Amino acid sequence: MATIFTKIINKEIPANIVYEDEDVIAFKDIAPVAPVHILVVPKKEIATINDIKEDDAYLIGKVYLTISKLAKEFGLAEKGYRVVSNCNEHAGQTVFHIHFHLIGGEKLGTMV
Ligand code: 5GP
Repeated sequence: MATIFTKIINKEIPANIVYEDEDVIAFKDIAPVAPVHILVVPKKEIATINDIKEDDAYLIGKVYLTISKLAKEFGLAEKGYRVVSNCNEHAGQTVFHIHFHLIGGEKLGTMV
């Protein structure tokens, strides 16, 4: 089912887009939790990590390549950063179109 991220992908609502190609889009989170908080999103509508199929392996690889490039571009690579992807209720997923939070720019609290 389409979510707010589909509207961003289709340019129906604005977002601060920092990267885009035919498969992947990345934009700044509207409610950042750190100095750098970017959402890296495959354009294909996949609701949760549970719904990733074999055929999506290349796409998910591309997402991580994008994360690696953006981490360098935004000056996070050397000191470090965190990548978070929430799945379903217990993790607090709110947008049911898979996405990867790229978070950094300061020392992050321990999570796991
Ligand atoms: P989740 O809670 O599903 O892991 O992450 C959803 C993220 O999307 C949240 O961090 C939230 O701030 C962000 N978000 C929700 N709606 C919008 C929006 O319209 N624009 C942008 N840029 N971010 C959004």
